[in-house]
Amino acid sequence: MRRLPPRPELRLITKKKLVKETMAIAQSQDPKTEAERRYGNARKTKWFKPIVEKLAEMSGPGERCMFCSGSESSQVEHFRPKAIFHNEAMKWENFLWVCGICNHSKSARFPPDTEAGATIINPVTEDVWLFFFIDEFGNLTPRWRPELNAPDPRASKTIEILALDRDALQQSRQMRLVDLKEHIQDTLALYNQGQLATDILRVRCGNWLTLPFQPDVADYFLKGPGRDESPFAEFCAEAEC
Ligand SMILES: [Zn+2]
Repeated sequence: MRRLPPRPELRLITKKKLVKETMAIAQSQDPKTEAERRYGNARKTKWFKPIVEKLAEMSGPGERCMFCSGSESSQVEHFRPKAIFHNEAMKWENFLWVCGICNHSKSARFPPDTEAGATIINPVTEDVWLFFFIDEFGNLTPRWRPELNAPDPRASKTIEILALDRDALQQSRQMRLVDLKEHIQDTLALYNQGQLATDILRVRCGNWLTLPFQPDVADYFLKGPGRDESPFAEFCAEAEC
Protein backbone atom coordinates (compact mmCIF):
# COMPACT_ATOMS: atom_id res chain seq x y z
CA MET A 1 0.00 0.00 0.00
CA ARG A 2 1.05 3.57 -0.42
CA ARG A 3 -0.26 7.04 0.12
CA LEU A 4 -2.00 8.60 -2.84
CA PRO A 5 -2.66 12.22 -3.79
CA PRO A 6 -6.11 13.69 -3.03
CA ARG A 7 -8.81 12.80 -5.52
CA PRO A 8 -9.01 15.46 -8.27
CA GLU A 9 -12.30 16.98 -9.43
CA LEU A 10 -13.99 15.57 -12.50
CA ARG A 11 -15.39 17.86 -15.19
CA LEU A 12 -18.94 19.01 -14.52
CA ILE A 13 -20.33 17.07 -17.49
CA THR A 14 -18.89 13.79 -16.12
CA LYS A 15 -20.08 14.53 -12.58
CA LYS A 16 -23.61 15.18 -13.86
CA LYS A 17 -23.59 11.94 -15.81
CA LEU A 18 -22.58 9.98 -12.68
CA VAL A 19 -25.33 11.65 -10.64
CA LYS A 20 -27.90 10.77 -13.33
CA GLU A 21 -26.77 7.13 -13.36
CA THR A 22 -26.84 6.95 -9.54
CA MET A 23 -30.40 8.32 -9.47
CA ALA A 24 -31.53 5.79 -12.08
CA ILE A 25 -30.08 2.94 -9.97
CA ALA A 26 -31.74 4.25 -6.78
CA GLN A 27 -35.13 4.52 -8.51
CA SER A 28 -34.96 1.08 -10.09
CA GLN A 29 -37.11 -1.85 -8.92
CA ASP A 30 -33.98 -4.02 -8.81
CA PRO A 31 -31.03 -1.77 -7.85
CA LYS A 32 -28.53 -4.64 -7.71
CA THR A 33 -29.10 -5.71 -11.34
CA GLU A 34 -29.45 -2.11 -12.48
CA ALA A 35 -26.12 -1.16 -10.86
CA GLU A 36 -24.33 -4.03 -12.64
CA ARG A 37 -26.02 -3.22 -15.95
CA ARG A 38 -25.41 0.52 -15.85
CA TYR A 39 -21.80 0.18 -14.71
CA GLY A 40 -21.10 -2.50 -17.35
CA ASN A 41 -22.56 -0.29 -20.07
CA ALA A 42 -20.74 2.82 -18.85
CA ARG A 43 -17.34 1.08 -19.01
CA LYS A 44 -17.87 0.59 -22.76
CA THR A 45 -18.75 4.23 -23.42
CA LYS A 46 -16.69 7.30 -24.25
CA TRP A 47 -18.04 9.41 -21.38
CA PHE A 48 -16.46 7.07 -18.79
CA LYS A 49 -12.92 7.44 -20.25
CA PRO A 50 -12.04 10.70 -18.40
CA ILE A 51 -12.77 8.85 -15.14
CA VAL A 52 -10.21 6.16 -15.94
CA GLU A 53 -7.74 8.84 -17.08
CA LYS A 54 -8.09 10.71 -13.76
CA LEU A 55 -7.58 7.49 -11.80
CA ALA A 56 -4.48 6.66 -13.88
CA GLU A 57 -3.14 10.17 -13.22
CA MET A 58 -3.65 9.67 -9.47
CA SER A 59 -1.77 6.37 -9.48
CA GLY A 60 1.32 8.10 -10.96
CA PRO A 61 4.16 6.86 -13.20
CA GLY A 62 3.69 3.31 -14.41
CA GLU A 63 0.08 3.39 -13.12
CA ARG A 64 0.99 1.20 -10.16
CA CYS A 65 -1.91 -0.51 -8.38
CA MET A 66 -3.44 1.71 -5.68
CA PHE A 67 -3.52 -1.23 -3.28
CA CYS A 68 -0.30 -3.21 -3.78
CA SER A 69 1.94 -0.78 -5.77
CA GLY A 70 3.44 -3.88 -7.35
CA SER A 71 1.60 -4.34 -10.63
CA GLU A 72 0.23 -2.18 -13.39
CA SER A 73 -3.38 -1.18 -12.78
CA SER A 74 -5.92 -2.32 -15.34
CA GLN A 75 -9.25 -2.39 -13.51
CA VAL A 76 -11.61 0.10 -11.89
CA GLU A 77 -12.23 -1.08 -8.35
CA HIS A 78 -15.29 -0.20 -6.29
CA PHE A 79 -13.84 0.32 -2.83
CA ARG A 80 -17.30 -0.35 -1.38
CA PRO A 81 -18.41 -3.30 -3.58
CA LYS A 82 -21.17 -2.48 -6.05
CA ALA A 83 -22.75 -5.90 -5.41
CA ILE A 84 -23.55 -4.71 -1.86
CA PHE A 85 -23.60 -0.91 -2.13
CA HIS A 86 -25.65 -0.53 -5.33
CA ASN A 87 -26.04 3.21 -4.93
CA GLU A 88 -22.26 3.63 -4.94
CA ALA A 89 -21.68 1.76 -8.20
CA MET A 90 -21.41 5.06 -10.06
CA LYS A 91 -19.81 7.31 -7.46
CA TRP A 92 -16.44 8.91 -8.22
CA GLU A 93 -15.41 8.75 -4.53
CA ASN A 94 -15.83 4.97 -4.66
CA PHE A 95 -13.49 4.31 -7.62
CA LEU A 96 -9.89 3.14 -7.36
CA TRP A 97 -7.45 1.99 -10.09
CA VAL A 98 -5.99 -1.41 -9.23
CA CYS A 99 -4.38 -4.56 -10.59
CA GLY A 100 -6.30 -7.73 -11.43
CA ILE A 101 -4.76 -9.72 -8.56
CA CYS A 102 -5.91 -7.25 -5.87
CA ASN A 103 -9.32 -6.77 -7.49
CA HIS A 104 -9.90 -10.51 -7.76
CA SER A 105 -8.65 -11.10 -4.22
CA LYS A 106 -10.94 -8.44 -2.71
CA SER A 107 -13.96 -9.32 -4.85
CA ALA A 108 -17.11 -8.28 -2.94
CA ARG A 109 -15.59 -8.59 0.54
CA PHE A 110 -16.06 -5.53 2.73
CA PRO A 111 -16.09 -6.16 6.48
CA PRO A 112 -17.97 -5.60 8.67
CA ASP A 113 -20.83 -5.46 6.11
CA THR A 114 -20.03 -8.75 4.39
CA GLU A 115 -18.15 -10.66 7.13
CA ALA A 116 -16.83 -10.19 10.64
CA GLY A 117 -13.76 -8.03 11.02
CA ALA A 118 -12.38 -4.51 10.86
CA THR A 119 -12.90 -2.10 7.96
CA ILE A 120 -10.20 -2.18 5.32
CA ILE A 121 -8.02 0.87 4.66
CA ASN A 122 -8.66 3.30 1.80
CA PRO A 123 -5.30 4.52 0.41
CA VAL A 124 -6.84 7.71 -1.01
CA THR A 125 -8.55 8.98 2.12
CA GLU A 126 -6.29 7.56 4.85
CA ASP A 127 -2.58 7.72 5.70
CA VAL A 128 -1.61 4.08 5.26
CA TRP A 129 1.61 4.52 7.30
CA LEU A 130 -0.48 5.02 10.44
CA PHE A 131 -1.49 1.37 10.03
CA PHE A 132 1.54 -0.32 8.47
CA PHE A 133 5.30 -0.18 8.56
CA ILE A 134 7.86 -1.65 6.17
CA ASP A 135 10.43 -3.66 8.09
CA GLU A 136 14.19 -3.77 7.52
CA PHE A 137 13.73 -6.60 5.02
CA GLY A 138 11.09 -4.72 3.01
CA ASN A 139 8.02 -6.57 4.28
CA LEU A 140 4.73 -4.72 4.66
CA THR A 141 3.67 -5.32 8.28
CA PRO A 142 0.72 -4.21 10.45
CA ARG A 143 1.65 -1.84 13.30
CA TRP A 144 1.45 -3.29 16.80
CA ARG A 145 -1.35 -1.98 19.04
CA PRO A 146 -0.20 -2.31 22.69
CA GLU A 147 -3.70 -1.49 23.96
CA LEU A 148 -5.02 -4.57 22.13
CA ASN A 149 -1.85 -6.60 22.54
CA ALA A 150 -2.30 -7.45 18.86
CA PRO A 151 -1.43 -6.16 15.39
CA ASP A 152 -3.66 -3.35 14.10
CA PRO A 153 -6.94 -5.10 13.17
CA ARG A 154 -7.66 -2.88 10.16
CA ALA A 155 -4.16 -3.40 8.75
CA SER A 156 -4.36 -7.18 9.32
CA LYS A 157 -7.75 -7.42 7.62
CA THR A 158 -6.55 -5.28 4.69
CA ILE A 159 -3.56 -7.59 4.20
CA GLU A 160 -5.80 -10.66 4.34
CA ILE A 161 -8.46 -9.36 1.94
CA LEU A 162 -6.05 -7.97 -0.64
CA ALA A 163 -3.42 -10.71 -0.17
CA LEU A 164 -0.82 -7.98 0.33
CA ASP A 165 1.57 -10.51 1.87
CA ARG A 166 1.75 -12.64 -1.28
CA ASP A 167 5.28 -13.92 -1.86
CA ALA A 168 5.96 -12.22 -5.18
CA LEU A 169 4.90 -8.86 -3.74
CA GLN A 170 6.98 -9.17 -0.57
CA GLN A 171 9.99 -10.17 -2.72
CA SER A 172 9.41 -7.17 -4.94
CA ARG A 173 9.36 -4.83 -1.90
CA GLN A 174 12.53 -6.48 -0.56
CA MET A 175 14.28 -5.98 -3.91
CA ARG A 176 13.22 -2.34 -4.06
CA LEU A 177 14.52 -1.69 -0.55
CA VAL A 178 17.92 -3.28 -1.30
CA ASP A 179 18.13 -1.28 -4.54
CA LEU A 180 17.11 2.00 -2.88
CA LYS A 181 19.61 1.57 -0.02
CA GLU A 182 22.44 0.88 -2.49
CA HIS A 183 21.63 3.98 -4.52
CA ILE A 184 21.45 6.12 -1.39
CA GLN A 185 24.72 4.78 0.01
CA ASP A 186 26.49 5.33 -3.33
CA THR A 187 25.05 8.83 -3.62
CA LEU A 188 26.04 9.73 -0.04
CA ALA A 189 29.58 8.42 -0.63
CA LEU A 190 29.98 10.65 -3.71
CA TYR A 191 28.44 13.60 -1.87
CA ASN A 192 30.79 13.19 1.10
CA GLN A 193 33.76 13.14 -1.31
CA GLY A 194 32.54 16.50 -2.64
CA GLN A 195 31.60 15.07 -6.03
CA LEU A 196 27.87 15.89 -5.88
CA ALA A 197 26.01 19.12 -5.12
CA THR A 198 23.02 19.24 -2.74
CA ASP A 199 20.56 19.95 -5.56
CA ILE A 200 21.64 16.72 -7.28
CA LEU A 201 20.63 14.84 -4.13
CA ARG A 202 17.19 16.39 -4.38
CA VAL A 203 16.90 15.53 -8.08
CA ARG A 204 17.85 11.93 -7.33
CA CYS A 205 15.33 11.79 -4.48
CA GLY A 206 12.59 12.94 -6.89
CA ASN A 207 13.64 10.29 -9.42
CA TRP A 208 13.57 7.51 -6.82
CA LEU A 209 10.11 8.56 -5.63
CA THR A 210 8.65 8.46 -9.15
CA LEU A 211 10.32 5.23 -10.30
CA PRO A 212 7.49 2.79 -11.14
CA PHE A 213 8.97 -0.05 -9.07
CA GLN A 214 7.26 -0.56 -5.69
CA PRO A 215 6.78 3.19 -5.10
CA ASP A 216 5.32 2.33 -1.67
CA VAL A 217 8.84 1.46 -0.46
CA ALA A 218 10.33 4.74 -1.72
CA ASP A 219 7.44 6.72 -0.21
CA TYR A 220 7.84 5.00 3.16
CA PHE A 221 11.61 5.51 3.44
CA LEU A 222 11.94 8.92 1.74
CA LYS A 223 8.70 10.66 2.69
CA GLY A 224 7.17 8.52 5.44
CA PRO A 225 8.16 7.20 8.88
CA GLY A 226 11.10 5.21 7.44
CA ARG A 227 13.08 8.39 6.77
CA ASP A 228 14.25 8.32 10.40
CA GLU A 229 16.18 5.13 9.69
CA SER A 230 19.74 4.79 8.39
CA PRO A 231 20.87 5.56 5.65
CA PHE A 232 17.70 7.51 4.79
CA ALA A 233 18.01 9.89 7.76
CA GLU A 234 21.56 10.92 6.73
CA PHE A 235 20.49 11.32 3.11
CA CYS A 236 17.37 13.37 3.92
CA ALA A 237 19.36 15.63 6.27
CA GLU A 238 21.97 16.36 3.56
CA ALA A 239 19.44 16.72 0.75
CA GLU A 240 17.14 18.83 2.96
CA CYS A 241 14.25 16.99 1.35
ZN1 LIG B 1 -2.58 -4.74 -6.77
